[in-house]
Amino acid sequence: MRRALIAGNWKMNLDRAASVALAKAIAEQAKAVEGVDLAVFPPSVYIDAVRETLHGSRVSWGAQNMYPQPNGAFTGEISAAMLVDLGCHYVILGHSERRHILGETDAQINQKILAALAAGLVPVVCVGELLADREAGHTGKVIRQQLEGSLANLSAEQIAASVIAYEPVWAIGTGKVASPEQAEEVHMDLRKILAGRYNATIAEGVRILYGGSVKASNAAELLAQPNVDGALVGGASLKADEFLGIAAGVSRKA
Ligand code: PEP
Repeated sequence: MRRALIAGNWKMNLDRAASVALAKAIAEQAKAVEGVDLAVFPPSVYIDAVRETLHGSRVSWGAQNMYPQPNGAFTGEISAAMLVDLGCHYVILGHSERRHILGETDAQINQKILAALAAGLVPVVCVGELLADREAGHTGKVIRQQLEGSLANLSAEQIAASVIAYEPVWAIGTGKVASPEQAEEVHMDLRKILAGRYNATIAEGVRILYGGSVKASNAAELLAQPNVDGALVGGASLKADEFLGIAAGVSRKA
């Protein structure tokens, strides 16, 4: 049975005090929610402050990005070992904002995923099509390319230790959420691709999250889909009530 994960990507929002306050509120409200894993992804400069707040709570934390090299002359970058040192459990890799605004390629994302896994982090690997891809009927092809490119050279054990997030780009931050049927269709396809590349047991075990304008009022329907194992949440993760409201939408996997 796959345990649901609700992950909050705070992106480049909040200051230190607001990050700590949000973490505190989430940790407090999380006490009332059972049967679901919870994680937050603060801006990297506030991970340490959030860590102090969340330590001992049932909420994990992670980073929004990292660099694949272990150390050296890479000005401005952060290694997997540094994230481990900050107590991170997860790292988001291949988010569409990094793919489309910062030009990250599947090959670069693949290097990051391998480095994250080698350091003991759980990568949350994002894939998702643009609106133009969907309208042209290319969703399946784009998702397959991104998944296969990002996961190149991963062993069965490594994919089993990873989380996938399907995030249609047209649904991120737009208020246009994918329908439960649209999400389920892609999640099923992703699982089929994993079954083909690895095997059915591995494919059945990997958690696949949906991301794109998830909020408390639409989460339950999405999370009720058999292949939707949680949510990667942007905007709605900046409010503790909304974030925990989404977690409360997990019923079937408890
Ligand atoms: C995201 O950025 O991963 C995301 C899903 O954002 P939002 O929930 O704001 O659409």
